[in-house]
Formats: sequence, structure tokens, C-alpha cells
Amino acid sequence: MDIILLGPPGAGKGTQAQRLERTRGMVQMSTGDMLRQAVKVGTPVGLKAKAVMEAGELVSDSIVSALIGERLDQADGTGAIFDGFPRTGHQAQALEILLGERGRKLDRVIELEVDEEALVERITGRFACANCGASYHDRFKLPQQEGTCDVCGAHEFKRRPDDNEQTVRTRMAEYRAKTAPILPYYEERGLVRRVDGMASVEEVAATIDGILDDPGSLSR
Ligand code: ADP
Ligand code: ADP
Ligand code: ZN
Repeated sequence: MDIILLGPPGAGKGTQAQRLERTRGMVQMSTGDMLRQAVKVGTPVGLKAKAVMEAGELVSDSIVSALIGERLDQADGTGAIFDGFPRTGHQAQALEILLGERGRKLDRVIELEVDEEALVERITGRFACANCGASYHDRFKLPQQEGTCDVCGAHEFKRRPDDNEQTVRTRMAEYRAKTAPILPYYEERGLVRRVDGMASVEEVAATIDGILDDPGSLSR
């Protein structure tokens, strides 16, 4: 099963994708994570992407589509969770082609609906395990034991340079202008399911499980 998690920055896509990896053996395909890795290593892609990401603008469609293509060829698992991709109409078309070439197709687009003001608080409080990337929040999801990752036990955490209020506003504007307009394209095909992303992490998880486990909803 191949699915897209769609929603503005801070909607909870990464949190839910990580959980689906752990519980279902699916593979998270986060173009944000791939780009951050490229920046860290200093690849040609990373050198191009760094300033664009720091400004909260979108990296070019051809770069991110190529990253997804490479990852689809490496990954096994029971299906892909696209997280932060596609973000434009061109990327949505590229995804159709990339999946089609591999005899795959999109099964679901899960839209996380959230209140924009709450997102600023979510993003400015976000941090992650420096070892395994598990995501946490200063108020909403602290590690069970202070200073220790629930998933891997590491003690180092990190914050993203673009998780500040000003950049978040730009990222939200990019989402509204370029990403939200691709939803009707998936709606026409009956692929979209909406989830209340303002509910707790556990409630959102349960709703997504319900969608993925509903065989009726997969036969369309
Ligand atoms: P978030 O999940 O908080 O929205 P991401 O980690 O997905 O953030 O993305 C961080 C940044 O990486 C974006 O602001 C953008 O600059 C770049 N980026 C990630 N995915 C894409 C994409 N599919 N297309 C263009 N730019 C992207
Ligand atoms: P995205 O990948 O969509 O940008 P994340 O999954 O990284 O979003 O979530 C952003 C921040 O909000 C993280 O710190 C995460 O722990 C927290 N978070 C995620 N889902 C929820 C939720 N349902 N309620 C409260 N906080 C949440
Ligand atoms: Zn960890």
C-alpha cells in the first residue's frame, strides 16, 4: 500500500509516518529528511537546497522528484508513506509516473486538518532524537524519561534551524499557495480521507489505522 500524508508544516505527518514504520513495516519517504541529510553531507543537491530551506521556500521539483525515485528503488517494506512530497502539481505528476514505472499506484491520500495558529506552537516546540530521529515536543510529547529517547535510548536531541516563527509563516504560505491546490486532483479520484489533526497523537493514529484497515475503502 502506498499512501501520502498531506498537511501543512507541523500537522503531524512525520510523527504519524514514524509510527506507521514501526507498526506496519511501511517505509517513510520524507523529502525534508532526505534534503537535510544532503545538506549535512554537503552533496551538490545539499549545496543547492540549503539556503532555500532556511528561507522556508520550496526546493525545485526536479531535485525532490529525483530523490524520491532513488529512494523507491532502494526501499522494500510493505509500502511507502510519502511525507512532505508531493508539494506541487508537478511533483504530483512526477509521483504518478515514478509509481507507474514500478507497477505501483497510490492507494490513499490522508489529509491532516489543523488550525494554523496551533502549528506555530507545534513547530517552535519541536525537537527530535539526534540518533534515530524520533520526534518530540516541549509541551505535547516529552520523552517518558527526561533526556532519554523512548525509541532508542539515546541522550542527544536536536532542533531544526528552520523551525522558527518567521520561517514557519513562509512555509505555511507556500503550503497554501502550492500544495493545498493539489488536493482536488486526488479528491476527483476518491483517494482523499480527512483526519482531524488537532486531536491527540494517539487519536490521530487510531483514525489513520481505521482508514488503512478498512478494506472497503481500498477497493475503489
Ligand atoms: P515540514 O514537515 O515541517 O513541513 P519538511 O521537513 O517536509 O518540513 O521540509 C523542510 C523544507 O525542505 C521545506 O521548507 C522545503 O524547503 C524543503 N522541502 C521538503 N520537501 C520538499 C518538496 N517535496 N518540495 C520542495 N521542497 C521541499
Ligand atoms: P510535520 O512532519 O507534519 O511537519 P511533526 O510530526 O514533526 O509534523 O509534528 C510537529 C510537532 O508537533 C512535533 O514536535 C510533534 O511531536 C508534535 N505533534 C505531532 N502530532 C501532534 C498532535 N496530534 N498533537 C500535539 N502535538 C503533535
Ligand atoms: Zn532515538
